[in-house]
Amino acid sequence: MTVNLIDLYSDTVSRPSPGMRQAIAEAEVGNEQAGEDPTTNRLQEMAAGLLGKEAALLLPSGTMCNQIAFRAVCEPGDEILLDKTAHPLHYETGGPAALSGAMTRALDGERGIFNADQVRDAIRTRGGHYPISKVLSVENTSNGGGGSVWPLEQIEEVTDAAREKGLTTHMDGARLLNAVVASGIQAETYAKNFDSLWICLSKGLGCPVGGVLAGSRDFIDRAWRFKHQFGGAMRQSGIFAAAGIYALENNVDRLADDHANAKHLAMLIADIPGVDVEPVETNMVFFDVAGTGKTAAEVAEALLSHGVRIGANAATRMRAVAHIDVDRTGIETAAAALREVVG
Ligand SMILES: *Cc1c(COP(=O)(O)O)cnc(C)c1O
Repeated sequence: MTVNLIDLYSDTVSRPSPGMRQAIAEAEVGNEQAGEDPTTNRLQEMAAGLLGKEAALLLPSGTMCNQIAFRAVCEPGDEILLDKTAHPLHYETGGPAALSGAMTRALDGERGIFNADQVRDAIRTRGGHYPISKVLSVENTSNGGGGSVWPLEQIEEVTDAAREKGLTTHMDGARLLNAVVASGIQAETYAKNFDSLWICLSKGLGCPVGGVLAGSRDFIDRAWRFKHQFGGAMRQSGIFAAAGIYALENNVDRLADDHANAKHLAMLIADIPGVDVEPVETNMVFFDVAGTGKTAAEVAEALLSHGVRIGANAATRMRAVAHIDVDRTGIETAAAALREVVG
């Protein structure tokens, strides 16, 4: 990787800022596994408060947040309903099957967003030969859907449809705070429709590690056991919990800058011949390069030689993600590089 690389591959490439590193250096720590790490405890209280839940649990990754949430409620043979683009379906190495014995059922949403009729149609009749529909999982923002933000009303409709049939509701809120900043709707307002949800610290918020899972006291007590069982219990986790506290205090409102940068990038590349840009709602810019006669992999490679990294998401679909380490000048350089490599 070159030193001056403009890296729009993902918001996961964001690095801890000097202020965050200072907070990390000064963190008060203890044995997390025994509940004795004061900084972790404080972050968990902050996250529970932000999400309007009784309790929260710091975990090493977002994947573990999803998998523990499923494991806490599923029996082998149960079924999880989620969108066809959902992260746990494609990018968690088959975790629901491997760790919970659960099946997944993909719903055919638009930009990652499905409706209540699709949920009602997918929920199985109880008894007989069927698996038991157990969890409805909603991803907000939807990553594979283009960084799209769920309308609150639609969240209420799909979760009502699930609850009516006795399912529990889970939100994959890896980028919930992007949805909050884009919509002006509070995290708590989205969260009240869900039994469990989590936010990622290591993406747009710029932390090195972690996610925080929240829910009722009972749910978190159960989740705590699986955290230990999955090998996610830690010791002086205050070292990175401090980064999480710093991020919640300093890096949430600035997500608006990433959204503005993403929209700016979309605007700058919209008139490049052969480039077809999807609508931008938050920090992600998906675009198709089929019309240029090049594959996404070819464009990605050519961009790298211009010092710009943008991921090839499919044969001709690419994803650029704005984040804390790419400023307006970087965005403009990236747009100019794309124009040059496909021109
Ligand atoms: C990144 C991501 C995850 C997983 O988080 P990790 O911290 O990478 O394990 C889950 N869901 C969505 C929507 C994500 O974008």
